[in-house]
Amino acid sequence: MDTVETTVRDTVILGTGCSGLTAAIYAARANLKPLVIEGHEAGGQLSLTTLVENFPGFPDGIQGPVLIENMRRQAERFGAEYLRGHLVRADLSERPFKLDFGGGQTALTRTLIIASGASARWLGLPSEQALIGHGVSSCATCDGFFFKGKPIAVVGGGDSAMEEALFLTRFATKVTLIHRRDHFRASKIMLDRARKHEKIEFLTDTVVDEVHDVGKKEVTGLKLRNVKTSKVWDFPTSAMFLGIGHEPNAKMFKGQLDMDEDGYLKTHDFVMTRVPGVFACGDVQDRRYRQAITAAGSGCAAAMEAEKFLEEHGR
Ligand code: NAP
Repeated sequence: MDTVETTVRDTVILGTGCSGLTAAIYAARANLKPLVIEGHEAGGQLSLTTLVENFPGFPDGIQGPVLIENMRRQAERFGAEYLRGHLVRADLSERPFKLDFGGGQTALTRTLIIASGASARWLGLPSEQALIGHGVSSCATCDGFFFKGKPIAVVGGGDSAMEEALFLTRFATKVTLIHRRDHFRASKIMLDRARKHEKIEFLTDTVVDEVHDVGKKEVTGLKLRNVKTSKVWDFPTSAMFLGIGHEPNAKMFKGQLDMDEDGYLKTHDFVMTRVPGVFACGDVQDRRYRQAITAAGSGCAAAMEAEKFLEEHGR
């Protein structure tokens, strides 16, 4: 791609997760030659996971990164073009829409499919932020190996936390799952698996107040607090993995598209935003299901709507 594109694209797809790549497959097969923008979390959340057991068509499961790579190649085969970049600004006030990726790189497009997903949430403690990459992580599959033979803590009470805790038992001597309540959002099957695992211990009604030891540039322990008894204590561990949910990547559209109170894009009729020609799919607009298969489904719908829009408004 040229730095400044003067030709107008039929469609630009923002994101290379399950939803963006499904949109890319459909758009490419409709001969829209989509430009697919690959941000700093290429492949989305599936590329950070291990075995996916609930994507239809794989009776023995499939590794998340393999599933993503397959989708990527499938879209490429039909003419999708990939560009590494990060959308800084977008002007959706008139068509063609103007996209600014910073560093003088821009693109013009008749339709835009936003599939920018959601990124891992952090606790927001200064000590946690200082130790990211030094024992604090939001990706068990990326960083678990570094803590082989050591105790590991996982924070959260949803399926992500259970999945991380179970995965980390491969490396850790012990995994302690720390959750701020005594009720869990996790599905029964995942919670039961974690509860039954001999290496996993649960600490409920407990929050992390501080991560030690910023001075040593490594995690040596956590300052924990029981929210019911107010008891505070130091808990030795070598790593803290976060599994506390995600934030939608939609801040760059503030003021131009409707969002809910947590920043998820609001859509009507499945994938329509309030700007005609701009569609949103996957986790950036779905806070209810957030599954690979629902993300793929909405990606398909967004591409079909973009195609229909181009037919009606001219290419
Ligand atoms: P989630 O279900 O929203 O759970 C987030 C958890 O983190 C909750 O337990 C929440 O506590 C806790 N939390 C949030 N902010 C916190 C904070 N600041 N401090 C401490 N704890 C905090 O998110 P998720 O686990 O990432 O799952 C998202 C979706 O993906 C779900 O639909 C899930 O089923 C799906 N998923 C499925 C699989 C699978 O099937 N293999 C794997 C991963 C995810 P509270 O409960 O107190 O709010």
